Amino acid sequence: MHLLDHTILGAFPEYDGHEAVYEYEHPESGLRGYIALHNTTLGPANGGTRYWTYDTATDGLRDALALSRAMTYKCALARVPYGGGKAVILAPASGKKQELFQAYGNTINALNGRFLTGQDVGLDTKDIETMQAASPFVMRAAAGNLGPWAARGVFAAIQATLAALFTNDTVAGKTFAVKGLGNVGSELCTLLLAHGGRVFAADTDSLKTTAMQQRHPTLTIIAPQDIHRIPVDIYAPCALGKELTKERIDELGCKAVCGAANNQLADNTASEHLYERGVLYVPDYVANAGGLINVVESFATDGYREKRVTERVQGIRQTTASILQQANTEHCSPHRIAEMLAQTIISEKRKTLSS
Ligand code: NAD
Repeated sequence: MHLLDHTILGAFPEYDGHEAVYEYEHPESGLRGYIALHNTTLGPANGGTRYWTYDTATDGLRDALALSRAMTYKCALARVPYGGGKAVILAPASGKKQELFQAYGNTINALNGRFLTGQDVGLDTKDIETMQAASPFVMRAAAGNLGPWAARGVFAAIQATLAALFTNDTVAGKTFAVKGLGNVGSELCTLLLAHGGRVFAADTDSLKTTAMQQRHPTLTIIAPQDIHRIPVDIYAPCALGKELTKERIDELGCKAVCGAANNQLADNTASEHLYERGVLYVPDYVANAGGLINVVESFATDGYREKRVTERVQGIRQTTASILQQANTEHCSPHRIAEMLAQTIISEKRKTLSS
């Protein structure tokens, strides 16, 4: 494993003065990838490991840079004592082999706990168990499925968004478009419908749309390519990231975007474009912190407490409300305010550490 030079990293728009970015490889198993530690002021870097077939290795590196930065902000605003990190494994053409995950566990060990990781896109339980056998720094899923907790957090953020749009947070009678009916999206639909919302939803997997339609006959299924255009109060992206391109933003039919997908903004200009178009955008790392809040509870020195997780996840509502209120007062995008708040939390911690 070797450190990448900051002058080389500076060429990427996703680079943000990351503390350390490593490239690692283990040719015998086909393992290759990047670990990005963005900021560890609040605690050890925390972030999942993604196993993905990228078009180029550089795309993988850029993904790790962007995702680790968002993890820093997510941890800060969720008030959990961790920093931001993220790893990507470049999926080899030869396919998944368990030796690769064992070698990855050994790679993580070299960082001596500066990076704590867990499951992200592309990894299943077996892969994680192989990593865990090799490394104590791979988090155990003791806290169970994270999707429902992430959905509860998004729901809390949606309530705050409704309050900002309509001066009350009543879900009943409001309209929602949910893209992606996986772990988070399906739970979010269930919550919105249970509170009297009118919900439109889409998924590229017809098994998922059929199952959800059977479970909730009042749910309206829409084609995936059209879900963002539906004129609704809130659009909730719960599929993959980078979907909010300039073109897509121009096509949005909603008043606000508030969803679970990580890395929703396609580039650095997207949040300003949303603001100019008058679409309220709740930063993904604010709305989707519920899963993180639940997983870090497993490390609480006094043991896992569901009541505490519930309170903290509900706290996402107040965090969202404060960000939207400040953005309104200061006439700027909520994304900019969220970044500023997270940076303030980090610099205050830095001051206490140095005093
Ligand atoms: P998932 O894989 O269970 O579900 C994603 C769903 O999106 C799948 O059903 C897939 O078929 C669908 N999909 C993919 N492309 C689509 C498209 N173009 N149009 C419509 N549907 C499409 O994932 P998840 O755990 O539900 O997570 C959803 C998003 O939320 C991801 O971006 C994830 O990174 C993020 N997130 C998840 C958690 C968590 O705890 N699970 C926490 C925070 C953030």
